[in-house]
Amino acid sequence: MATTNRPQTPQAAWDALVEGNKHFVSGSPAHPRQDIERREALAAKQIPFAALFGCSDSRLSAEIIFDVGLGDLFVVRNAGQVIAETIIGSLEFSVEVLKVPLILVLGHDECGAIRATIDASEGALKSEGKFIHDLVERIRPTVDAANAAGKFEIDEITELHVQDTINELLTRSSLIASAVKAGKLAVVGANYKLALGEIHPIVIVGDIK
Ligand SMILES: [Zn+2]
Repeated sequence: MATTNRPQTPQAAWDALVEGNKHFVSGSPAHPRQDIERREALAAKQIPFAALFGCSDSRLSAEIIFDVGLGDLFVVRNAGQVIAETIIGSLEFSVEVLKVPLILVLGHDECGAIRATIDASEGALKSEGKFIHDLVERIRPTVDAANAAGKFEIDEITELHVQDTINELLTRSSLIASAVKAGKLAVVGANYKLALGEIHPIVIVGDIK
């Protein structure tokens, strides 16, 4: 994938991520586009083919788990992939300026932020960090809604959180929603399995099969 032939469509971008993840899962990564030539070619301009909004968890290293290279992914992460104004702004930038055809929202199993929110809802969160409580409060509505629907398992709640995150992104950003409507962008929500290294799609919004 030279800088000139990056995936241009939502489908091509998704296919590239799926293919790269297969390399990682099977233990045969190619570690592409990480050399001096690539670095120099990108110095003047970045043209990533996808944006990734994922959890900060150290095991979710974006370029490694998708076996891609320098300049391939525009990455935004925070603990528990919680929507905030700065997150939406970063993703809008990736769509409007960098023209990425795909946003991947990536959660994972046994997420510490989700676990902390479940603990908080049970009155068991032990944290002195005020802003940790703020973060947990952003996930709390999903946990409360899940519990009200009889869902208490962390994996179920994680999937709902990914769905809620995408709903919030599309509701709050008319720029991103419009790009999806125009067929220029797709938004995929997925879950990453820590032990297997696999990406499991949960929700696809846009033109991807
Ligand atoms: Zn996490």
